[in-house]
Amino acid sequence: MVIKHQWIFKTESPWSDANQKMLVLDTGGWRTERPVLDKSLCNYCGLCSLYCPPQCMRDKGDHYEVDLAFCKGCGICAHECPKKALTMKPEGEFTNEG
Ligand code: SF4
Ligand code: SF4
Repeated sequence: MVIKHQWIFKTESPWSDANQKMLVLDTGGWRTERPVLDKSLCNYCGLCSLYCPPQCMRDKGDHYEVDLAFCKGCGICAHECPKKALTMKPEGEFTNEG
């Protein structure tokens, strides 16, 4: 298997060794849920980004946006969000959106 360099990032995830690189692979089609943000509730604290295992939350300046190419649908971001701004929704609700 050829590992593309752009898929290997340094990680600062709290459970991993920040001195090691982490392999982050495209999720493909196996995610069953995705996090959906209610921007009106988000206070831009960044905890969702901090806890996301594959580090796929992107800083948009006033909120964080999920990079769905790498999101695994684990729900940790929604669980850790202190404002309940993220809700996990079934992928079946987005079949027409890709
Ligand atoms: S953890 Fe919740 S409130 Fe904080 S930036 Fe993420 S979505 Fe917004
Ligand atoms: S569901 Fe998991 S992988 Fe997806 S953004 Fe949230 S923490 Fe990251």
